[in-house]
Amino acid sequence: MTADLDTKTGINKIVQIKPVTNQQELRCRGCAGSLSRIKRGLFVRTFLSWLPVKHYVCYRCSRKTYRLDRKA
Ligand SMILES: [Zn+2]
Repeated sequence: MTADLDTKTGINKIVQIKPVTNQQELRCRGCAGSLSRIKRGLFVRTFLSWLPVKHYVCYRCSRKTYRLDRKA
């Protein structure tokens, strides 16, 4: 029976809890408010349509920003 031994090695192991890095919610660079998706501008739609960029707006400071969609 190795159940007792397995338990001891399990306790001795240092379990590293990974921090949640793939957070979906984007934050505004100016006021750290949550960003909302809006339609991309005509220029981006026409000339940068091949890029996985998304247009966001922060309603707290009305700052607009383009962000790359890293999943794509
Ligand atoms: Zn903001």
